[in-house]
Amino acid sequence: MSETKVALVTGANKGIGYEIAAGLGALGFRVGVGARDAARLADALAKLEAAGVDAFGVPLDVTSDESVTAAAASLARLDVLVNNAGVTGGMPQQPTLVDLDAIQRAVDTNVLGVVRVTNALLPLLLRSPSPRIVNMSSSVGSLTRQSAGDVGPLSAAYAPSKTFLNAVTLQYAKELRDTKVLINLGCPGYCATDLNGFRGVRTAAQGAAIAIRLATLPDDGPTGAFFDDEGVVPW
Ligand code: NAP
Repeated sequence: MSETKVALVTGANKGIGYEIAAGLGALGFRVGVGARDAARLADALAKLEAAGVDAFGVPLDVTSDESVTAAAASLARLDVLVNNAGVTGGMPQQPTLVDLDAIQRAVDTNVLGVVRVTNALLPLLLRSPSPRIVNMSSSVGSLTRQSAGDVGPLSAAYAPSKTFLNAVTLQYAKELRDTKVLINLGCPGYCATDLNGFRGVRTAAQGAAIAIRLATLPDDGPTGAFFDDEGVVPW
C-alpha cells in the first residue's frame, strides 16, 4: 500500500474481532481496536503491539450514541470498517420462553449498533479511495438454512437479529451502489469464543479470515452479498 490504510474493528478486544484486527495489521493496515472496556482494550493493544501490529485504541460502545460520536470524531482517516461486535442477548432463546429483554439486547447491539456505527463513520469512509464495510453475521441468520432446519439451536433473539442485520445490509448496498463503498456480510463459522462458551469447532483466527477477505476486496468486488469460507451463503 502506498499510503497506510486505516481499519476499525468493533468488539476487537477478544475473540474473532481481535483476530480480524491482528490479520488486518499483518497486512499493513493501521488498526483501530474498538472496545468498550478500558482494561480489556489495553490488554488487546499490548498483545497486538507485541505482535508488531500498528494498533491504536478506540473506546467504543456500539449501543451508545455518545460513545460512537466520540469514536468517529477521534479518527482522521478510515478505509475499512468491520462491524464485528455482537451478543447473543442472553438465554433462554426458545421462542416460548424467551425474555423480551434478550431480543432487545440482541437487536440493540447486532443491528442498531451496526447502523449507529456505520452512519457515524460513513462520511470518513466516503473519503477513502477503496472503502469497505464488513458486517459480521452468521449462517443462523439465513432464513433458507433456518427453514431447512440445518443450523443452530432454537434462537428467538440472536438468529433473527442476524437476519435483520442481513436485510439492513442489503439496504445499505442499494443506497451506496453508486459510491466506491463495498458492503458485505461475513459468516465466520462456529468458532470457539466467549459467545458460545468456547463450544465452537473452529478457531477465532479461522473465523476472522472471511472478514479479512471482505475487507480487502478489489474495487470490482461484490457488494450486498453474504459469504463464508465456502462461498455465498443463501439468504
Ligand atoms: P465474543 O468473543 O463474545 O466477542 C464479542 C465482542 O463484541 C467482544 O469484544 C465484546 O466486548 C464486543 N461487544 C459486545 N457488545 C458490545 C458493545 N455494546 N459495544 C462494543 N463492543 C461490544 O464473540 P465472537 O464469537 O468473537 O463474535 C464476533 C462476531 O462474530 C459477533 O458479531 C458474532 O455474532 C459473530 N459470530 C460468531 C460466531 C461464533 O461461532 N463465535 C458464529 C457466527 C457469528 P466485551 O469484551 O466488552 O464484551
